Parts: sequence; C-alpha cells; structure tokens
Amino acid sequence: MTADAMPVKFKPYTRQTIKQARQWEWMPEELREATQVVSHVLPFRTNEYVLDQLIDWNKVPDDPIYRLVFPHRDMLPPEEYAHLRDLVLVKKDDAAIAKYVHGIRMRMNPHPAGQMTHNVPRVNDAPLKGLQHKYKETVLFFPSAGQTCHAYCTFCFRWPQFVGMDDMKFDARETTQLAAYLREHKEVTDVLITGGDPLIMNTRSLAEFIEPLLAPDLAHIQNIRIGTKSVAYWPQRFVSDKDSDDLLRLFERVVASGKNMAIMGHYNHAVELRQEIAQKAVKRIVGTGATLRMQGPLIRHINEDPKSWAELWTTGVRLGAIPYYMFVERDTGPREYFQLPLARAHEIFQQAYQMVSGLSRTVRGPSMSAFPGKVVIDGVATIAGEKVFALQFLQARNADWVRKPFYAKYDPDATWMDDLVPAFGKDKFFFEEGEPAPRKIIRLATARGEAVLPPSGCGSHSNAA
Ligand code: SF4
Repeated sequence: MTADAMPVKFKPYTRQTIKQARQWEWMPEELREATQVVSHVLPFRTNEYVLDQLIDWNKVPDDPIYRLVFPHRDMLPPEEYAHLRDLVLVKKDDAAIAKYVHGIRMRMNPHPAGQMTHNVPRVNDAPLKGLQHKYKETVLFFPSAGQTCHAYCTFCFRWPQFVGMDDMKFDARETTQLAAYLREHKEVTDVLITGGDPLIMNTRSLAEFIEPLLAPDLAHIQNIRIGTKSVAYWPQRFVSDKDSDDLLRLFERVVASGKNMAIMGHYNHAVELRQEIAQKAVKRIVGTGATLRMQGPLIRHINEDPKSWAELWTTGVRLGAIPYYMFVERDTGPREYFQLPLARAHEIFQQAYQMVSGLSRTVRGPSMSAFPGKVVIDGVATIAGEKVFALQFLQARNADWVRKPFYAKYDPDATWMDDLVPAFGKDKFFFEEGEPAPRKIIRLATARGEAVLPPSGCGSHSNAA
C-alpha cells in the first residue's frame, strides 16, 4: 500500500475549530479576523487534506484554493464588514450577530421562501420534497443526508441547506415516492443525485438511494448521476476511505445493470488534479465502468487563468475523465467579489479551448444556468454593423429552443443573462415571444427572483440544473 492509499481519517475544520489547525498560526491577523467575521454569514468548512495538500501557504491570500474555501473580508461590503466585525469581536453580542447576519443573508439570498416549490413534483397531489423536475428528461434528487460537503466553497452560497434554513428534509419514505414518481414518468431518463455533496454519505446510505433505481420497472432510467466535489476536496472517498471499495462496487452494480453511472465531478482549479491521490481517484472511478465528467464555474480570484483550465482538462482526459462544462458563476451570494463580465468569460474559455487537443474539446461553455435553460455564449460577432453576443440554449425548459441561435446586444459589463438585451432593435428574445406580458415582466432577473432554480452548488453546477 502506498502512502497515498494509507487510510487517512477525514478531519474537517469549521469556524469553531480552525484554530486547532497548524496553518492557523501561519495566517496574518487580518486574514484570521476575516475568517472569524465573514464565516458568520458564509458557512465555513474545510478539511485537513485541503489545508495540507491543496493550498500553497506561500501564496496566501492569493492562492486559488485559499480563496475557494476561506472567507475574505471583501466578500462583504465595507460597511457591513465593519458592523459585523464590531458585533463579533467587540460587542460579542450573539443575539445582535444573529439578527444582523440574517439580514445580510436575506439580502444575498437568491432563493427566498418557496424556492423548492416551483419545480417540485407531486405524487397523489402531495409535493415530493427533495425532488426537482425542471427539464423533461431529468429529475434532481436531494437526499437529506447529502446536504453538506467535505469543504465549502465561498462562492457557493449553499447556506440555506448548510445552516438548516431550508426545509429540505428527505426521509426514507420519500425514496419510495421517488421510485413511484419515476414509474409514472417514463420520459425521465436521468436521475441526478445532488446536494451539498451526496458522497458525504457512507456507501450503505448511498446504496439505499441508488439501488431502488435499478428495479426492472425503472428500465427507462438510463443515467444515474451524482454531483460531487469529493473528487477534489476528498479524493480519499474513492481510494482509502474504509468503504471506498464498497463505493466502487456500487458503481459497478449500476454499470452491470445496464445503466450509466455518471459522476459529475466538480473541479475548480488544476491544482486539485495535481495530487497523486486525486489522479488515483479518477482512475478508480473510471475503472468501474462509470463515467466522470468535469465541470465547474469560472470565478474571479480563483480560476480566471486559461492555463489552469487547459491543464485541468488535459490531465483529466489523460486519466479518462471527460471535460464537460465551464459555467458562468451565478449572481448569488458575494457576487461582486466573484463575477466576471461575460465577454471576459468567453475570452478565457476560448483561450483555454485553443490550448487543448480535440479530446478536451468536449467541454462546453461559458454556460449560464438561467431561468429558461442553459445558455452558452458562443462568441462575439458583428452582424449588420452591430456588435453582438451569439448565444444558444444547450438545455431548455422548452426542448424546441435547444440549439437555436439568438443574439444579444454586446455589453462589455454584462455579467449575467438578465443584463442582456436583444440585438437588432428587438424588444424580446425569441423564447419570450408569445408571452402575454411585456418583456420586463418575464425578464430573467424577475424570473430568477422567483427562485425557481435549484440552489447554487455542486448540484447546480451539473448539466441538469
Ligand atoms: S459548490 Fe458544491 S462542494 Fe462547494 S460548497 Fe457548494 S455544494 Fe458544496
């Protein structure tokens, strides 16, 4: 057994325990303070592997993985940070902190009350909590035990789940209901098990969710997907955890049943795949016959370097993974800190794409998981004298929209779909035609404000969200 394969116990750190990590001593006081203060708003969790292997402490605070997991003071507006700092470090008033933090979270929260109601399917007229059915062929499934992660990404803003603000509980009875729902919906071919991170669950618990999907009367379910960041944050899950072999056997059972076991691996930076154990994890996953697709959002301060993407995809392909998506970061949470203009996002994608061979060009992007569907920015063009973004749907609520090109006026500052307006003097995009309401009523901002999207996390970084 190599050093990599030696069982290593998963050791998480949170705001309450991070002082026990030896790296805490290496952090300048201002970074420690920011971690203590901002983590009251954005949940903070990391683990020993991330601290020891992924962060280059000589480069902190600019190290990409440090930025990925440690809250930074610029993630809050200066006045909010100052006020919260005063409450946390000076007044130490728990009630006042809780009240103030709640206010900030509500301001940042893109998924107000009812977020899980829009796409929630029903059986016998009862809503199935923990399920979403947005696109015809795909059902998203949120097992309650999978609503946490091996570490939290600062851009994710999954705190409604992580801090228990959403009622996303999903009990065993509802597993039966999932199967019942799928039996009634033969159009569904894909089930995406998502979170949080479903692979935080032990294999036995995960099997309880997956094995019912192998029943003969669910033959129409062809693809079982798991959205996970464990490939980067805790690759030991596939290599040396005490039930890692059992997990691989579970994947093999799915493959043997004739279905595709698809691991939707969330990667943010090339460094995550430089580690020997992370590479071994990829090999072990694909060695079961499962597929591993690589996807992640493009985020300022973390992965705006095209070379990092090119290295990530190239390494992944060499190991047997499939580059899949580069997403545009959703305008959630501390978006001013993370967002990049769409024009820049396209440049980064294009530069990275030009650096890799055809085998890595399975990747699609930059793609926005917007209200009507997944919109990819194909490029910037000048048509009839007007500079435009060329766009198309890769996935849509209405299948007729898929792959239909459309154009938006070029806007160098636009960072999301609802910043865009139709090109050529039109007042609506084609997919808004026929809507009785004026365009402003169905603007994507409004639609997104209705919070019909799945929460932003590994789940939503998947193809189905
Ligand atoms: S992006 Fe994924 S791994 Fe990161 S915190 Fe969100 S759900 Fe967890």
